[in-house]
Amino acid sequence: MVVKINENYLLLQNSYLFAEIAKRVEKFQEENPNKDIIKMGIGDVTKPLSPTVIKAFKDAVDEMGDPNHFMGYGPEQGYAFLQEAIIKHDFNPLGIDLDIDEVFVSDGAKCDTGNIQEIFSNDCVVAITDPVYPVYVDTNVMAGRTGPINESGEDEGRYDGLVYLPCTEENDFVPELPKEDVDLIYLCFPNNPTGTTLNKDQLSKFVKYAQDNQAIILFDAAYEKFITEDDVPHSIYEIEGAKEVAIEFRSFSKTAGFTGTRCAYTVVPKELKAYDSEGNKQSINKLWNRRQTTKFNGVSYPVQRAAEATFSESGKKETEENIAYYMKNAEVIKNSLEKIGLKVYGGINSPYIWIKTPNNMDSWDFFDLLLNEANVVGTPGAGFGPSGEGYLRLTAFNTLENTKEAMKRLSKLSF
Ligand code: PLP
Repeated sequence: MVVKINENYLLLQNSYLFAEIAKRVEKFQEENPNKDIIKMGIGDVTKPLSPTVIKAFKDAVDEMGDPNHFMGYGPEQGYAFLQEAIIKHDFNPLGIDLDIDEVFVSDGAKCDTGNIQEIFSNDCVVAITDPVYPVYVDTNVMAGRTGPINESGEDEGRYDGLVYLPCTEENDFVPELPKEDVDLIYLCFPNNPTGTTLNKDQLSKFVKYAQDNQAIILFDAAYEKFITEDDVPHSIYEIEGAKEVAIEFRSFSKTAGFTGTRCAYTVVPKELKAYDSEGNKQSINKLWNRRQTTKFNGVSYPVQRAAEATFSESGKKETEENIAYYMKNAEVIKNSLEKIGLKVYGGINSPYIWIKTPNNMDSWDFFDLLLNEANVVGTPGAGFGPSGEGYLRLTAFNTLENTKEAMKRLSKLSF
């Protein structure tokens, strides 16, 4: 007998995007050792944890060394102090009420958005927006919900069995409702990679689709804190009836600089139901609770105290200042690129700027041009899905100085 593997893994595309970027950058640097490269492809924050967060973090670490305050295993769902702070600060001001057991604290929106599909049947039909955060696609491929990817033809770059909802210049980055019957719809707004958003009316149409078709929306709101415009929903639960059809994912990563500290949460309302094969209604909240308590042992106590501190008065102020710093970068990028005649999207409610490549250049050619001529690194849109071809993503996570320098260099190029 030999050990067999889960062959669904063989259907995955090699995650060559960031490896290929690194290879090209390395080669360029070797050939041009004196050139100063500015990296604007990074999806990681650069500002450190704020002083209030660090103080709470350190105090909690001290508690861990004190025999009277030491904390062992915590509740898998998170400590009540953090769940309560999340509800009070992230939802109540929006007019949304949640029970404490509807909030599941975790160590990342990546894991949660990746793991959530486990509690749904393997025959569920999955829809994703295109371009997309790759985790939603790959985790469904691993689970066997797709066929192979098409290597050519009009479906090139698409997996058989997945429903793609293109978001491009042509539809103003607003996905159409699925034409076919789908069960699970991943939506991420503000969007990575396009930086665009849906307004309340546009998001309401998806909620109505889900209600009418008994579908469930998996709503990734990791960039919610970057929203600056009034009509953009911060939570899907701002839309009436959404608790019956949606799960929402949030993260402290980009919001408060927790990418290396790890804390996030997922809201699974008790109203949300799906069916077993005999047609009985089952609670999704109960299933997710069962999944988490079996496979996850909670986020560490000091990290949860640090996350709680982001909601204190000074924590909030410092967090908002950091976000404003990144959004100033986004504004600099957007204005500079528009001045040189490029079409630019996003950057108003998110730290991502999505550039339409000039003269119908393909994503990788535009990437090479920016690297060779301006020594600026972006991320080719094609790496996020077939509808990303013809675009390139820049992020606002660098320093203001570097951002300005990068824009100065780009302004000297002619397209
Ligand atoms: N969701 C989206 C859309 C993201 O872009 C990212 C990170 O880049 C994540 C989730 C991951 O968040 P976390 O750091 O909480 O795992």
